[in-house]
Amino acid sequence: MSSFTPFSGQRIAVVGLGRAGLPAALRLRDWGAEVTCWDDGEAARAQADAAGLPVRDLSAGPFPFDALLLSPGIPHRLPRPHPVAARAATAGVPILADVEFLFRAVRAAGSQARFIGITGTNGKSTSTALIHHLLKKAGQVSEVGGNLGPAALGLDILGPEGSYTLEMSSYMLERIATIRFNGAVMLNLSADHLDRHGDMEGYAAAKAMIFAGQAPEDLAVLGQDDDHTAAMAGAVRARLRPISGLRPVAGGIWAEGPSLRDAEGEIADLRDAPALPGSHNAQNAAAAAAIALDWGLSRAEIAAGLADFPGLPHRQERVGSLRGVLFVNDSKATNADSTARALASYDRVVWIAGGMAKSGGIESLAPFFPRIARALLIGRDAQVLAATLAAHGVPHEVAGTLDAALPAAAAAALGGAAPVVLLSPACASFDQFSGFDARGDRFRALVQAMIANGSHILGGRAA
Ligand code: ADP
Repeated sequence: MSSFTPFSGQRIAVVGLGRAGLPAALRLRDWGAEVTCWDDGEAARAQADAAGLPVRDLSAGPFPFDALLLSPGIPHRLPRPHPVAARAATAGVPILADVEFLFRAVRAAGSQARFIGITGTNGKSTSTALIHHLLKKAGQVSEVGGNLGPAALGLDILGPEGSYTLEMSSYMLERIATIRFNGAVMLNLSADHLDRHGDMEGYAAAKAMIFAGQAPEDLAVLGQDDDHTAAMAGAVRARLRPISGLRPVAGGIWAEGPSLRDAEGEIADLRDAPALPGSHNAQNAAAAAAIALDWGLSRAEIAAGLADFPGLPHRQERVGSLRGVLFVNDSKATNADSTARALASYDRVVWIAGGMAKSGGIESLAPFFPRIARALLIGRDAQVLAATLAAHGVPHEVAGTLDAALPAAAAAALGGAAPVVLLSPACASFDQFSGFDARGDRFRALVQAMIANGSHILGGRAA
């Protein structure tokens, strides 16, 4: 056991022993807490047991805890509280997220390291990674985590010069108590996850928690591109910095076309930032610039950091190019909404799509169909997508698998159909892959192998 034991004497139940839960349980134990674990899955329980953690079914028996750390994927209210969460609520035991424990530990260590929290319906991961990238590149100390791995309780304790850059989901925001974000970013809000939050008001209230612990000298960065978000200004006590990816905002940071600006003039030309295409990414860039300026970066440092931001894997990730054809991995796009943003970013594409279709299918993408030179369809619902494309006269073929689709797509693009091959499936991946990341990884590997063998591609066929 370490000599740093900020949670000594505290009894903490940890429920949900996944990617974040297991390291959290180990860290809390290390930090002096008396930890008891549970997971509904047997494999996860076995792992905790093997790590020497006490495992007990917490839905029955005594419930003598000071706090419950519940993994973000497990509901504590809607649609139905997990039985352990219900017991905690009845017993008046606070339900907390791992970032809350991180915050307490950092302060208990006497460090005034700063906390940056980023939330919104879309763009959280991109903005979080971008802020971290800007700070690091400018020589500052930043640890990145939260919803975007690694788990908050896997991060180091930083000194006062450091910052934690944390992606905060609405689920996590419902489970914070004392954490104060020196910089808080709320990007945007649209209907999503309403099953967990009841309605738009409940969802907005959860998101607004990002500002709850702030003091007047802190910074609140607030998106202005949708009414729900703009209306949160009333919940802000800190210095307010409005941002927009679309139009000028008084006292804020905004994009006008590709020009990222504030009242002093241009900060960066976003055409120099290839990993941040589209007005949605202009919003992310504006948010990151707002934090970075406040954290002491120069305008030139921000421009340089935006330009060489590598982007996140699976989100319009530029995987490589071959003879003028760019290959883009947007495997994270598991619904038509996300795919719409990718299609909007390119004038002409060969499109790979399919998997398990969401309700509504791809009909909503019709405005973008003229941009599709050819579509290669994969997965369980390829025929469903094919029917929609046929009705709109979009050239397409059912390739079945990603392995078959990629060479066919490359052949079409290299033959002059379009300068971009875009994997943006508009469908879930579970019929053929373990998740969107496995699907994107496969696409990247196929593209890289093809590029490595590029000289052998003749007549559009990979040898
Ligand atoms: P999140 O972490 O909130 O899910 P990501 O940064 O992973 O967001 O982006 C997910 C998808 O959402 C991207 O592929 C892109 O299509 C879209 N997106 C990214 N940023 C924004 C934004 N600011 N507004 C709207 N959509 C966005």
